[in-house]
Amino acid sequence: MSLKEKTVNDLSAVLGAENIISDDEAIRVADPIMVRTYAKAFNYIPEHSPLCIAKVSSAEQVSKTLKYCNDNDIHVIAKTGASSSEDQLLVIDDRTIFIDGAPMDRIVKIDTENMVVTAQCGAPIAVIEEKLNAMGYTLGHAPQSLPLASMGGLVATRSTGQFSTYYGGIEDLVCGLEAALPNGEIISVRPVPRRAAGPDLRHIAIGSEGALVFITEITVKIFKWYPDLMWKGGYIIEDFKTGVAAVRDVMARGYRPSVVRLYDKTDVDHNYGSVKLKNDEAFMFFTVEGPEGIPGAHGEAIHRIALSRGAEYIGTKAVDHWFLTRNRICDTIGTEKEYVKFRETNVYNATLEICSNWEQIGSIYDEARLTLPERFPELVMLGGHVSHSYMNGTNVYFVYALKMDDPASAHLLQYRFVDAICEITLKYDSATTVHHHGVGKMRVGRIKEELGSSFALLKMMKQAVDPKNIMNPGCLIPLE
Ligand SMILES: Cc1cc2nc3c(=O)[nH]c(=O)nc-3n(C[C@H](O)[C@H](O)[C@H](O)COP(=O)(O)OP(=O)(O)OC[C@H]3O[C@@H](n4cnc5c(N)ncnc54)[C@H](O)[C@@H]3O)c2cc1C
Repeated sequence: MSLKEKTVNDLSAVLGAENIISDDEAIRVADPIMVRTYAKAFNYIPEHSPLCIAKVSSAEQVSKTLKYCNDNDIHVIAKTGASSSEDQLLVIDDRTIFIDGAPMDRIVKIDTENMVVTAQCGAPIAVIEEKLNAMGYTLGHAPQSLPLASMGGLVATRSTGQFSTYYGGIEDLVCGLEAALPNGEIISVRPVPRRAAGPDLRHIAIGSEGALVFITEITVKIFKWYPDLMWKGGYIIEDFKTGVAAVRDVMARGYRPSVVRLYDKTDVDHNYGSVKLKNDEAFMFFTVEGPEGIPGAHGEAIHRIALSRGAEYIGTKAVDHWFLTRNRICDTIGTEKEYVKFRETNVYNATLEICSNWEQIGSIYDEARLTLPERFPELVMLGGHVSHSYMNGTNVYFVYALKMDDPASAHLLQYRFVDAICEITLKYDSATTVHHHGVGKMRVGRIKEELGSSFALLKMMKQAVDPKNIMNPGCLIPLE
């Protein structure tokens, strides 16, 4: 009996045959190879396929499936929304199954007294947000992939949302969680407002990218939602660097916008569309949320700061356009429409998000924009925007387009390009190569440099929690 037959038989006995997808064509359709969607458009078949996709509907089923895999040396990739972008879900050998947590989609409890919501890992974030909005609350977490992503994946990738400058990233929102260890043991970190009982064990799961535990349930904060009170302001500013200086002024002085976005001209011309810029001009906008009194007060101060940096106020039309179109890309990803475009143009568009302190961000942006076009003749566009800002620094979201000659090796070109941006970023001592998409298998080659001496701790953690390395091998932590 082949390994595939045995695994399918054994897991069918554990979960029921109706919960195991094993047919090759069905796997191919369900197999999420996000980054490889370009190759998919040309009917390229990936080198490795999962043995099967096991659908789970309870923590107990997750536990039994993991224990089976651990005992039988079967590798496991956890998935929920399948929208991750750094090859987290790429199968790299012939002994891997997907554990699909999408059926675990229950909202367990919305607790407006204690301002938290508890949901299973497969609960789509869009469904929770819609429910909360109808009640006058919000999760405060709105990734661009909101129509696609689910709670488990969001926590496991340490995701951040478009309103993060006010609400924080997912790490600021998770109060407690339940997870299954590779040996099948179920552990729970009780949700509390704050805890000083040793290191924060939530972080074993947050950002673990399926390489340590399978998250089954999560409790996150909720916030009162005041959409009608939102303050918005759009500006054109002399250039990207002046825009960064204005954003720094806003953040360092202690104002709390919810969205802060600053686009360079290339990004505006290729991806934005609703603003016309001249020369090196940049487009910048802010929103402020909160209860009565706060949006107006912070908004007016932000407006004064923008004008003091020479920005021209252009009203709110372009901001409203962003609100209308901010998740639109999710409608076409992985669809025939996108595939047709790939086949017609041979061009693949993608993004990469790095982050640094205020002092270094401009130099990283300049170095990438100056040096990469020379190194990569395939590069047809490279721009960037700032979208997540902090008191002590900000991110740059590089947007790029590569002309791909060969679909089968397109991902290698993308890996080389991503690595080149990481290489530049790592020259700066207050910068990180990964702001919020996670490491995956795409950036894992740089993780040792990224973490420096503390990489040893991550490795020890992996060895302690997952000694047989069954959990998403090669993701987050490089293979030996
Ligand atoms: C168009 C687009 C826009 C995006 N915008 C953003 C953005 O604004 N902000 C942002 O942060 N990200 C963004 N992303 C990336 C992606 O949406 C996030 O990484 C998201 O968190 C993935 O959630 P998911 O449910 O789709 O997870 P999946 O893709 O299913 O999985 C992601 C990772 O988490 C692991 N995982 C999944 N479920 C579990 C579980 N139950 N237990 C343990 N591990 C698990 C997987 O093994 C994998 O490593 C974007 C992606 C796309 C395609």
